[in-house]
Amino acid sequence: MTESANPSVYAASDRAAALQQLRQSLAQRPPRLLIDGVWRPALSAQTLEVDDPATGEPIARIAAGDSGDIDLAVAAARRAFREGPWPRLPASRRAAALFALADAIERRQQEFALLESLDAGHSLMSIVNGDLPLGLRSLRDYAGWATKIAGEVPMRSADQRGMDYFLREPIGVAAIVTPWNAPFLMVLQKLAAALAAGCTVVIKPAELAPLSALYIGELCDEAGIPAGVVNIVTGTGVAAGQALAEHPDVNLISFTGSTQVGQSIMAAAARSNLKRVVLELGGKSPAMVFADADLDKAATAIVGEIAFKSGQYCAAGSRVYVQASVHAPLLEKMHAAMQRIRIGAGYADGTDMGPMISDAQRRRAQDLIDHSLAAGARVLRGGHARSGPGYFFEPTLIADARADMRVAQEEIFAPVLCVTPFADDAGLSEVAALANDSRYGLSAKLWARDIGTVHGLIGLLETGQVIVNGGGGEATLPFGGVKQSGYGRENGHVGLSAFTEIKSVRLGY
Ligand code: NAP
Ligand code: MG
Repeated sequence: MTESANPSVYAASDRAAALQQLRQSLAQRPPRLLIDGVWRPALSAQTLEVDDPATGEPIARIAAGDSGDIDLAVAAARRAFREGPWPRLPASRRAAALFALADAIERRQQEFALLESLDAGHSLMSIVNGDLPLGLRSLRDYAGWATKIAGEVPMRSADQRGMDYFLREPIGVAAIVTPWNAPFLMVLQKLAAALAAGCTVVIKPAELAPLSALYIGELCDEAGIPAGVVNIVTGTGVAAGQALAEHPDVNLISFTGSTQVGQSIMAAAARSNLKRVVLELGGKSPAMVFADADLDKAATAIVGEIAFKSGQYCAAGSRVYVQASVHAPLLEKMHAAMQRIRIGAGYADGTDMGPMISDAQRRRAQDLIDHSLAAGARVLRGGHARSGPGYFFEPTLIADARADMRVAQEEIFAPVLCVTPFADDAGLSEVAALANDSRYGLSAKLWARDIGTVHGLIGLLETGQVIVNGGGGEATLPFGGVKQSGYGRENGHVGLSAFTEIKSVRLGY
């Protein structure tokens, strides 16, 4: 892996100065929520500390919002929806504001990259080549969709004098609750869809990595988005997130996070006001490698994906199934690819893989690995944390992980791959059965050249996405899971439709 030539990565010398300046400005930044266009402390005046996961040292304090702040934010969003200009603007004006927001973010992409790296731990390379362009593409794609939201008028018979049709209207107040593993991208793509549809929003970013969301909030005014349309309440999930899920005046909650919290949000939505839900949840995605695949490319991509965000990537292929005749060479190539990973602070020079988000996440990964080793799995490489400051974890290869072991079933969210061979003469349905042996169904990666293998497996896999012979997320393609990976899809006009409600009309004469 080599550092990208993307010009938005700082030169090393400029980066050190920019980082120092960023740390200073964060240390001086008062902990504030954005409600009705005004930055103000939490009602309780409580705050939370935000750490740099590469050192464990504090970098900022944020306001600890709770249900009182959520009430104010939802009321502001409701007023902006009922009385404000946003949902009433010609769609082209909403589109213009979203394009302006994209431009405002793009002008500061160096700052965003550094901020996200400092806050969430990821390598600058992964942000500059991944989250930033994906987020901007998503925002601009949704800006384009704003003028293309339409209902339908069914064909009428010649003698019909009335008219039937349906409209699409903005759903109302949308709550956006996001995780820490891709904070900028998750907030931006949900916000873009909501705003394009004419909704107003309350965002509750993850307490562990909330800073890019606050920075996006600062730019909304500059982009011409009216006060009250975008409200941001930082705080814990239990205090602020749950208050949104239970709120009787929120029309939709778009959530990305763990399956467990997703289930509690769906229950709260059902209990409160039947608000709509979009749930992007966990994954335990399979990668299947056949003997005719490009093994070098497969090994590099599979290891690259698990190193990307230190394995804290919902769609990462973490269960690798490989045809027996190429098992040994693939393992060797994966091993070598892991050796090449340069581990360090995300914002440091040449880093491929940064730290995990917290010591708690790292201990959880260790616990899952230890549990499976005791049950008979073997560590071929890594398997433990790195000593020293920060929350670093060694890239890990595990063999002999039986399907019933926790390491093969649970989402580890760490740079850990389980590799299992399948027989050379296994049928496609046998391979699919291995891949589908999971409560999750987010993504599947397929490495094969034979078109019959590829098409046969695409039809058999129980996932919301299949990636054949490499590639990552795409901002314009629907994304989401089946089974316990979620409910609904994001991106493009499919994702946009979640933020609209249909009104059917019969027009008499
Ligand atoms: P999480 O613990 O479920 O938290 C996600 C968000 O929900 C955070 O903002 C969290 O607040 C909040 N929250 C926690 N408890 C809540 C409650 N009872 N009611 C309402 N909100 C609550 O997930 P995470 O640990 O941040 O993120 C990792 C998970 O996200 C993984 O499972 C990963 O697979 C999933 N993920 C899925 C996708 C996808 O697109 N499918 C993408 C990325 C990540 P605090 O954490 O601030 O307390
Ligand atoms: Mg959490």
